[in-house]
Amino acid sequence: MTRRLVAATANAHKLAEIQALLDHLDVEVVAMQALGVPSPPEDAETFEGNALIKARACHAATGLPAIADDSGLEVDALGGEPGVRSARYAGEQGDDAANNAKLVAALRDVPPPRRTARFVSAVAFVAADGTEHVVRGTMEGHVVDRPRGGNGFGYDPYFVGDDGDGRTNAELSPEEKNARSHRGAAFRAIVPALAQAFADA
Ligand code: IMP
Repeated sequence: MTRRLVAATANAHKLAEIQALLDHLDVEVVAMQALGVPSPPEDAETFEGNALIKARACHAATGLPAIADDSGLEVDALGGEPGVRSARYAGEQGDDAANNAKLVAALRDVPPPRRTARFVSAVAFVAADGTEHVVRGTMEGHVVDRPRGGNGFGYDPYFVGDDGDGRTNAELSPEEKNARSHRGAAFRAIVPALAQAFADA
């Protein structure tokens, strides 16, 4: 029997990624918007807190198991900024060009060795019985001041991962990025909790 899992995202790319990771569990991933669940305010101070807010809202509204992720970029020389405010760093929600311009300006006088940073993704899962699980994935690297590459989104053209070959995230194929990224790591880490919850159900 195919079970349904509500995902707190409208992003078709993320939905497909989650579905692919869970295919062996016979789970159908459904977007919260398709079930009429309104987006809750993401006002926690941590990635884990925001992921839980979203997953709890989906579970509370539908009674179904729910999954949500929250992610962003932490830059050491900026005290961890933009952090949980990554999507709205420059003001308006989701303005990648303005966010990147602000990041480059903030790092103008910071020499390359001190430009260390990491992408962080927290994934929260609330099982049908209300049991909660939260995991975190990270991708370590540094910020460069000239963009390279046309793939990905957000800060990807300015981020070079430590375990790569000097390419920015935006120069990686989607498969390469998934294999190395914070989000890929976090979603892979939550799979055992999902498998357990669906086996118990
Ligand atoms: P959200 O978790 O999808 O809301 O992402 C928050 C913000 O963090 C995005 O708008 C991007 O600015 C940034 N971000 C998160 N993950 C990535 C990534 O994989 N590449 C580039 N930027 C990212």
